[in-house]
Amino acid sequence: MIDFSLTSEQQAIVEKYRDFANRWIIPNRLKYDKSAEFPWEIVKAAYDEGIMNGPIPVKFGGNGYDLMESALQSEELGAGCIGIGIGIDANTLALTPLLLEGTDEQQKKFFGWLIEEKGVAAYCLTEPNAGSDVQSISSTAIRKGDKYILNGHKRFITNGEVASFHTVFAQTDPEKGSRSLTALVVPTDLPGVEILPRLDKMGQKASVQNEIKYHDVEVPVENRLGDEGRGFLIAMRTFDRTRTGVAALSVGCARSAFEIAKDWSKNRIQFGKPIAANQAIGFMLADMATEIEAARLITWYAAWSYDSGQRTASKLSAMSKLYASDAAMRVTTDAVQVMGGDGYSRDFHVEKMMRDAKLCQIYEGTNQVQRIVISKNILKK
Ligand SMILES: Cc1cc2nc3c(=O)[nH]c(=O)nc-3n(C[C@H](O)[C@H](O)[C@H](O)COP(=O)(O)OP(=O)(O)OC[C@H]3O[C@@H](n4cnc5c(N)ncnc54)[C@H](O)[C@@H]3O)c2cc1C
Repeated sequence: MIDFSLTSEQQAIVEKYRDFANRWIIPNRLKYDKSAEFPWEIVKAAYDEGIMNGPIPVKFGGNGYDLMESALQSEELGAGCIGIGIGIDANTLALTPLLLEGTDEQQKKFFGWLIEEKGVAAYCLTEPNAGSDVQSISSTAIRKGDKYILNGHKRFITNGEVASFHTVFAQTDPEKGSRSLTALVVPTDLPGVEILPRLDKMGQKASVQNEIKYHDVEVPVENRLGDEGRGFLIAMRTFDRTRTGVAALSVGCARSAFEIAKDWSKNRIQFGKPIAANQAIGFMLADMATEIEAARLITWYAAWSYDSGQRTASKLSAMSKLYASDAAMRVTTDAVQVMGGDGYSRDFHVEKMMRDAKLCQIYEGTNQVQRIVISKNILKK
């Protein structure tokens, strides 16, 4: 028999993150949506309450969460606010290469540093000419003695301006091109790291993005993660883990929008009865609830597949991100529709959720790219 119930440890994670979201995130989400500032106050509180860095091993100061536990965590953060949730969770994206390929010494040093500082990190893959096409990355890191000389231009980097260090992907041998992609940990206080102004964007406003230029930045060789040339593999294996996190954030966002719309529809009287009593509205709510359940199930299935070392992990991680983010877009759009003018106003937060959900279809590989990953997986021999 398959058991979908949570263990008491898993339930405790849900409660801990839900409680944090209720106290810190929900009361502040509109404020940060308007100010578009990075939510340092909430990140510091998250550090103080043991909410940050879920997947970092316990021996290095994290919670040692597996992917299923991380998914439970991310659903609650997403239910609070995906933008603030990403402020807390983007570390996972930047730290996963360290988790996957870092030596014990590197993990101790960089995880320790971040936790000591109560800081955040950034994952620097995308470039002006290398978005979906990661293999077109043209940043270079040329070895000179015990240093790499890093030059390049990154774009759309979450946490760029607030990060203590960047996990940067660059070519170490331009002759070999993308086959020489290599991951490096780059402290942001090194000379030559230039942070350009913040991206002005539609949603997830509490999460900040920047373009970044590296001008002859001297990166110690000991900051390289894995061997030279493993960068592309590291980037893809990182997404195999983190796309499930985007799926879980999407489920949380959809769940919140649905709850708000459902409650509202039971109280809004038109033509002498609650609008929920109309089948047109009841069916919309039924579809929304069904999509949320399905999105959660594929997210948990993808997490289980990864945690139990199944060969399907990469495909399911892409499927979970694709399905859950599309579901979140549909559910949040319908939540606005169910609530009419009130849904479109800022008063009930669902228009914000609709704007926030859109980005989940774009970052960590657009949903077209997820379809490429899935079709390659299902068509290969
Ligand atoms: C707010 C935000 C935060 C981000 N955070 C980070 C971060 O922290 N680190 C980082 O490295 N990157 C980050 N990104 C970058 C993000 O991952 C890219 O935007 C995304 O991968 C798409 O790349 P692109 O924007 O260059 O679009 P493009 O690659 O130019 O794609 C444009 C359109 O073409 C489609 N397309 C492209 N190629 C194909 C194809 N072969 N088949 C079918 N359709 C195709 C895409 O699906 C899309 O619809 C972030 C982006 C945003 C907007």
